Amino acid sequence: MIINTVLGTMNTEDMGFTLMHEHIINVDWNLAHAFPGFYDRESVVDMFVEDAESLIPYGVKTWIDPTPIGLGRDLKLMQECSKRTGINIICCTGFYAQEYPFMHLDVQADYLAEQLLLEVEQGIEGTNIKPAILKCATNSTPGVTENNREMVRAVAIAHKTTGLPIYTHTDWSTSVGLWQKAIFDAEGIDPKRIAYCHSGSRCDTWYINALSRDGSYVCFDQLSWFNTEEKADCLAGLLKSDKYKQIIISCDADLRSDFAYTGNRVLRDREHNKYVKRFTRRNEIFLKLIPWLRERGVPEERINEVFTLNPRRFFGEMI
Ligand SMILES: [Zn+2]
Repeated sequence: MIINTVLGTMNTEDMGFTLMHEHIINVDWNLAHAFPGFYDRESVVDMFVEDAESLIPYGVKTWIDPTPIGLGRDLKLMQECSKRTGINIICCTGFYAQEYPFMHLDVQADYLAEQLLLEVEQGIEGTNIKPAILKCATNSTPGVTENNREMVRAVAIAHKTTGLPIYTHTDWSTSVGLWQKAIFDAEGIDPKRIAYCHSGSRCDTWYINALSRDGSYVCFDQLSWFNTEEKADCLAGLLKSDKYKQIIISCDADLRSDFAYTGNRVLRDREHNKYVKRFTRRNEIFLKLIPWLRERGVPEERINEVFTLNPRRFFGEMI
């Protein structure tokens, strides 16, 4: 199956070991445009190279960057990072949960879907870079507002036309994914084409079963929260069950993020970069998480399958 990357197309057979949810940056796009230097691109690229060098020896070949419109999706930056390291980077079209500017526009899902389809068909921001996934998001606060419902429906409508898989951000602390599921179900979307980001973070078995019972993917994609033996037990149990084909594992780390702050003060770039790096450590997947899974009896080939075949299944390959 052929899918888009930021440097053209690739065959899913070549994805190899894939991290399914990783960001380069998460920044306010308006501020980044208004204030040149709001983030230091060069240092971000350097950090990406350093990060990639810690992952490539373990076989990482592909990474999905689901940074949506509104969180600073930066195609040129993704291209540069991919060229410098050889890591395939896959990007998305879609929205982060936000009321502004939608609250001023009285937006309708059909209109938003048209915009997403333009990106899929013609390319993003005047480039020929095309997305391979559709992204939407709902947080517990303010929840599924009228605007949010339209954003989620827009992705459902775009999916019906494009067949691209849906990646939906949920709030890890609540069961907000079920609110989204109700919208997708009402739109008649095949649950097997939807991944619920962060839905595994609490290891709430009831919630995980409710989301995955008809085939959707559950994501253990916030490794900074993945910090207890109980959570390792929970993930290992799922990987040893027949649910393992529906599990996505990743870190959801950033190299520069407005979400990383001390108190209410966003850190300036230099100290910020230092701060964020402490939490990046994507190679902890190999240094900590996978050893934990091995200790709990998850077979090596199963671990490998989750990182190499589940990403291809998510794109629709019947393997
Ligand atoms: Zn994320």
